[in-house]
Amino acid sequence: MKTAVFSTRSYDECFLKAANQKAGHELHFFEARLTERTCRLAEGFPAVCVFVNDQLDRPVLEKLASGGTRLIALRCAGFNNVDLRAAEALGFTVARVPAYSPHAVAEHTVALVLALVRKLHKAYNRVREGNFNLEGLLGFDLYKKVVGVIGTGKIGSLVSRAFLVGFGCRVLCHDVRPNPELVALGAEYVPMETLCAQSDIITLHCPLLPETHHLINETTLQLMKDGVILINTSRGALIHTRAVIRALKTGKIGGLGLDVYEEEADLFFEDLSNRIIQDDVFARMLTFPNVIITGHQAFFTQEALEAIARETLENITAFQEGRNPPGLIEVEKVLGS
Ligand code: NAD
Repeated sequence: MKTAVFSTRSYDECFLKAANQKAGHELHFFEARLTERTCRLAEGFPAVCVFVNDQLDRPVLEKLASGGTRLIALRCAGFNNVDLRAAEALGFTVARVPAYSPHAVAEHTVALVLALVRKLHKAYNRVREGNFNLEGLLGFDLYKKVVGVIGTGKIGSLVSRAFLVGFGCRVLCHDVRPNPELVALGAEYVPMETLCAQSDIITLHCPLLPETHHLINETTLQLMKDGVILINTSRGALIHTRAVIRALKTGKIGGLGLDVYEEEADLFFEDLSNRIIQDDVFARMLTFPNVIITGHQAFFTQEALEAIARETLENITAFQEGRNPPGLIEVEKVLGS
């Protein structure tokens, strides 16, 4: 099927082309992000393939529909960038890759925790400059610490297991749908307030929905322990960034590890090293010695990219053959009727 692939980087093209040897679709690669300005590129394409920062709001969807597009194939798990109600009303089929490699994201989460707790980002630079002084590098054992996991689906469950089984932590979970397997392993489901009040480390793995928008805000931060380590590898807008900056300044937050940022669309996935960053909030975060930011790379493993390419093309094939794509997003199920 003729498919316009937006936000293409070399690795997308490489993995999609390899998987397409079997699938045989007609893929056209565009570097541009899908926005209202660029959606004309998709005219005449029955399918578009998009990523996390492509914009699929109502105006874009209307233009895509009038250009003949019927399928939106997300090559990611999250779908917060799609106006699902508008997509449904306009007759689109929307499919995603729900579980390409939860291990990739879970392992990156653990990497951020370890790097922050043992100050690896500072140690790396020091040693390269011949400075072997340990002053300021004091960490703490994870063993017996309390880790709060918000959202215990595919990724949050793996993170919970890693801390429970791997590091001997106490794990407090919060989810609208508790997972009995985690309880059997020793995790405890608690209200959000308890999780905030008792955790030494808090990590976010719930989706971005209207009810989870700015879940970490002035009020929830106030409940947390002084010096808490906060990790977000889920979606940027789960966190009210300005509130988090205030909490970093007072020491309420002792370490912040982010792979996502609420205004990341204008920054991430681009080489801006020769430009001046215009986002003052983001620039302020970069000044803290106890903040580590990666640019939405938690998913970025060989295994994940192979699975994303294979499953995205399977979604397109199924649609072309008149079947429900395996990664179909059922709007009523995810948003309620
Ligand atoms: P999942 O659907 O398996 O799990 C999400 C969990 O969150 C579910 O158990 C759900 O019940 C729970 N949840 C929903 N609303 C909640 C609420 N209000 N409070 C607490 N929990 C709630 O999803 P997943 O595969 O584990 O992915 C989690 C998130 O990770 C995705 O939504 C996506 O945004 C993000 N993600 C990030 C990357 C990355 O590269 N950084 C890659 C993949 C996914």
